[in-house]
Parts: sequence; structure tokens; C-alpha cells
Amino acid sequence: MKDSVPIAAPKKKMKTTRRKRRPKEPTPTLRFSPFAWAKLLFLRDLGDTEVGGFGISNEDDPLLVEDVRLIGQRTTVVSVEFDDEAVADFFDAQVDAGLAVERWFRLWLHTHPGDSAEPSATDEETFERVFGRCDWAVMAILATGGQTYARMRFKAGPGGQIEIPIDVDFSVPFVGSDPVRWEREYDECVRPESPQFAPLKSAADDTGWKEFYGEEFLEGEFFQHDMSDAVDISLENDGRLHDEPIFAAE
Ligand SMILES: [Zn+2]
Repeated sequence: MKDSVPIAAPKKKMKTTRRKRRPKEPTPTLRFSPFAWAKLLFLRDLGDTEVGGFGISNEDDPLLVEDVRLIGQRTTVVSVEFDDEAVADFFDAQVDAGLAVERWFRLWLHTHPGDSAEPSATDEETFERVFGRCDWAVMAILATGGQTYARMRFKAGPGGQIEIPIDVDFSVPFVGSDPVRWEREYDECVRPESPQFAPLKSAADDTGWKEFYGEEFLEGEFFQHDMSDAVDISLENDGRLHDEPIFAAE
């Protein structure tokens, strides 16, 4: 039995060696500042319908959401439809303010009443149609019950999609809540409609965003920005990598 002693000793060494192995590439995470997260929760709970908007990201970190901006929209319990004009105005305002496009047109956020944050068929269609031309974009959903869902699509390499986690980052600087202003923004932007007057079809057909999408989006200036330094996406990922091809514009 004494022979077994030397065999036990190297085991410790092996453990040490294993600990030193290079860690796996971290999965990109959509992070919210406490301010942005509080605002999204507040907007979600103001009404009974879905609410949609854009995440405004940190200057140096495109996956850190620092603010949530609503734009004019018609909403039901199962849909959000942005007004074409509101989208155009939002784009103009951000360009005029000198904000880099990847800070305000990559993160599409919306809420779901109820418990499920799973994207609907309409969500999938919108994500593909509106953001399919972007070099990368994220669709993130927050359900009333607290469930979250986020997926990034990207063109790098063969292109692909990956579900990513959502986190609230308390380590970043943030300002206090501003419920009065948030509610005003909601009132100015959100027009709830009864589903019977806005059947699913109206959200799923090609009306929303169409005009703007056709005239401005196709010029491509909003879609092409080299973010390879800022967003490190490993294509040799784990099993969460979806392999469906991304939308290809005609
Ligand atoms: Zn949805």
C-alpha cells in the first residue's frame, strides 16, 4: 500500500495545472447601468402594453446600456410599432448630437406584458428586417414577470447569432431615478391601442419603419461600423451559437 503514496502526490499538481488553463472566451453580456435598468422597469410597468425603444450605449462600451429612449409608437399587449416619422426624427437627433451610430442604433429593447420574454414571430421578423443589415445588433426583451431575453446577431466571419446574458452593472457611475421625466417620455411616445383595432397583421406586415427603411436605411450608413475592437465575438463559441445565416439584403 505504501506504493500508492507517490501516486497521490502528483494529483495535487494536476489540480494546480488545471486551474492555470486559459479560461474560456467570455460570452458577451448586455449590461445595463442601474439608471437604465430602473428606467426600463419603470416604463415597462406604466401601462398594460408592450413598450419599445433603443438602448443608448456607453461611448467606449457598445454593450453597456446607459439610457433607454422611447420613440413614437403604437402599442398593444402583443406588439410595438414605431412611427416612421419618429424613427427618422430620432435618427436625425442623434446624428445632430454627434453620437456615433453604434451608440444608438444597435440595441433594440422592448417589454412584454406577462411572464415570457421569448421573442414573437413579429419580433423575429422586425429584428431581421430592420437590423439584419447592421454589422451587429442586439434584440433584448424584458417581461413583466422579470424574465429577460437577449440575442446578438453579427456579420463577422460567416455571420451568426448568439443568445447573450443580461446583467445590471452597479460598478459604473450612474445618476438617480427620474420618474417624472420618464413618465413624460412615455406619455409623449406611447399610444396604446386595443388589439382588436391593431391586429397582429399590422405589426407583422411591412408598414412600420417601411418608409424610412426604404429611403435611408438602404444607403447603409447606419449599418457599417467596424466594432471589432469594441465587441469581441468569438466564432468558435459554445453550443449557444446559432448557425442560421443572417439576413442578407437584396
Ligand atoms: Zn416582443
